[in-house]
Amino acid sequence: MSTGDLSALRARHLAPSLGLSYAEPLEIVRGKGAWLYDTRGDAYLDCVNNVCHVGHCHPAVVTAAAEQMGVLNTNTRYLHEHAVHLAERLAGLFPDPLNVCFFVCSGSEANELALRLARTATGRRDVAVVDGAYHGNTSSLIELSPYKFLGPGGGGRASHVHVVPTPDPFRSRVSGGGGADACDPEHVSAAAREAEPNGGLAAFFCESALGCAGQIVLPPGYLRSAFERARAAGALCVADEVQVGFGRVGSHFWGFETQGAVPDIVTLGKPMGNGHPLAAVITTPAVAAAFANGMEYFNTFGGNPVSCAVGLAVLDVIEGEGLQHKAGEVGSLLLGRLRSLAESAPLIGDVRGLGLFIGVELVRDRTTLEPAPREAARIVETMKRRGILLSTDGPLRNVIKIKPPLAFGIPEAERVIEELGSLLADA
Ligand code: PMP
Repeated sequence: MSTGDLSALRARHLAPSLGLSYAEPLEIVRGKGAWLYDTRGDAYLDCVNNVCHVGHCHPAVVTAAAEQMGVLNTNTRYLHEHAVHLAERLAGLFPDPLNVCFFVCSGSEANELALRLARTATGRRDVAVVDGAYHGNTSSLIELSPYKFLGPGGGGRASHVHVVPTPDPFRSRVSGGGGADACDPEHVSAAAREAEPNGGLAAFFCESALGCAGQIVLPPGYLRSAFERARAAGALCVADEVQVGFGRVGSHFWGFETQGAVPDIVTLGKPMGNGHPLAAVITTPAVAAAFANGMEYFNTFGGNPVSCAVGLAVLDVIEGEGLQHKAGEVGSLLLGRLRSLAESAPLIGDVRGLGLFIGVELVRDRTTLEPAPREAARIVETMKRRGILLSTDGPLRNVIKIKPPLAFGIPEAERVIEELGSLLADA
């Protein structure tokens, strides 16, 4: 079928609320490492897929899934070594007392469960979130996602949700972004006070580095102070690691560790199954015990033997191939090169990142920080024609995001810099 015919058929049968990337959509049919291939066999360097974490179609993950698929796939109502071993391995990666695991199938399910845990454990309903955040696609999570409820088609803020300003060290330099004050964790206390008439905050949800808000690295210690304030108000602290977890940030395995913070609940997703729908919630024995109130939590697919075989293989590969360390090394090289590029490319307002979680924010004016979304979109399209897949993020759509599979190495980083450099020199 031609790409045109396929697009037309898709438009007829797939819901129109779902968009395609790029002006001329790609039909990708194969992936390997950090590379994707279209129907003509043309190669594209994948700089944005943080799901296929250890590399597209990593043979160890494929083999683990295929072998287990041929033996057994049931659910967590039977004893099975894979689920118990995966939970034990995950618990070993978290500081105490985070050692109880729930298996689910998506980041949304993980955050949805985190919300239920926090509400059940505190007996409260309200939630504080960070402006620009996205936590998932269910009704409850759209309400916790300013990125959606304040965006196109959004229904506005619900009365049980309290929004703290995006702690964005770059934009808070200008007063339009809330001033330096936006980075003050005291806003979490203000959110808690706002929630008092409704009975107080059940939870403060925050990503350990902000994705949809624009690839933002939190100011040092922000999360730790914000968590202290949330806890002082009786709320539980939820770290959403759906995008940034599993070694991506390089210096640590989890993003919250870079902030000196310890959450009460951590949600995991995307990279956990390398593309297989595997996600989890990790919490403390106390929170898990409060949730065991007689109503069973059962998840048909969550924690099945195939998913858990995949999860174990992903952890083995991260460890065996030293991918966390590699993310740190390749990330620093990329950040350094991008910062050098910024010296001669006035369009680059800011370069920020942790490991292989990087944002390049484009502005038309470095004083007013006027965003450059059209320029960002043009760069993404041109880079795609040059075989490099990027995309934009942030509420102003002017941040180029770089969060590739960790199979992305130094040669790939150099290729990106070479192409981006020549493009920005012409801009
Ligand atoms: N949290 C964050 C931070 C996310 O980026 C996403 C997905 N973009 C989700 C939750 C929801 O995950 P999923 O799409 O797997 O439901």
